[in-house]
Amino acid sequence: MTSISTDDIFNLDHPKNFANGKWNRLVLLSSNDPYHLLVERHFQTGWVHPHKSKPQVQAVFKILSTSESLKKYERYRAKVAVHPKVAHKKVPGNERLLFHGTARCCLLAEDSSRVRLCNLPECYLCCVIRSSFEVQRCGTRNKFRRFGTGIYTSECSSKADDYSCNKSDDANFRVMLANRVVVGKARKQQENAEHLTEPPKGYHSVIGKPGLELNYPETVVYDNDAIRPAFLIVYGTPEASEKKDPKRLRNFITTLFNTPIAS
Ligand SMILES: [Zn+2]
Repeated sequence: MTSISTDDIFNLDHPKNFANGKWNRLVLLSSNDPYHLLVERHFQTGWVHPHKSKPQVQAVFKILSTSESLKKYERYRAKVAVHPKVAHKKVPGNERLLFHGTARCCLLAEDSSRVRLCNLPECYLCCVIRSSFEVQRCGTRNKFRRFGTGIYTSECSSKADDYSCNKSDDANFRVMLANRVVVGKARKQQENAEHLTEPPKGYHSVIGKPGLELNYPETVVYDNDAIRPAFLIVYGTPEASEKKDPKRLRNFITTLFNTPIAS
C-alpha cells in the first residue's frame, strides 16, 4: 500500500475535519479522491473467493478518530518502526491496510447523510468507529479463535465480507472497515495457536498462512494500539425493486451518495 503518513487526514480535532461537525465521524470521499481510488483498488484486488461474485464499491468514507486515540497509535507505530527487524521496511512499522467485517445494527453510511454513530451497544461497527478495537471484545461472536485472543483482519476483502453482517432489515448495502494495522515483524504461522494472548517473542503480529486448516490469510495483532479503523467501504447492490431497472438503480445510488457512479 501507499504509505499514509499524514495522520491529520484522520484527525477529528484537525480544523480541516472539524468543519464536518464535531459529531460526524465519517467523511464521504469523492469517487476521484486518491484515497477512494486506493481503497477501492485494494478492495477489488483483495476479493479472491472464486465462488463469490465481485461486488461494486458504492462509496468510501474516511473515518475520523480523536487526537488522543491517534497519538496512542502513532506512539505504538513509532516504537515498532525502530525495531531492528522492521527498520528497513519502506512503510514505517510495516503498516498495512487490512479489512475487517463486523455487525452493523443501524443504517450508518447507507447514504451520504448518515454519518452519525448510533448508541446501540450491540452495534459493533459504531463501537469500533467511536473507540477503535479492543482485544477483549474481538471475536466474542465467534468462540473459536485460531490464533488466540487478538484483533483479526485480512488482506482479503472477500474473507472480511464473511463477518460483515447487517442486523437491520432496512439496510440496502453491505459495509466493511479498512484499517491501518502496524504489522511490524509478523510470525507466519500455519498451525493453530489458540492459546496466544500476545505475539510470539520477537514478533509484533501473527499472519495465518493458508494451508493446513486455513483457506485465506489473516493477520492478528494483540495490542489495541496496533490498529485504527481508517475507511468504511459501502458495497454491494440493493435488493430493492430498483435492481430490475439498471438505469433507475444507478440514479438511486447517485442520489444516495451525491456522487457519479461509473457506468
Ligand atoms: Zn450503529
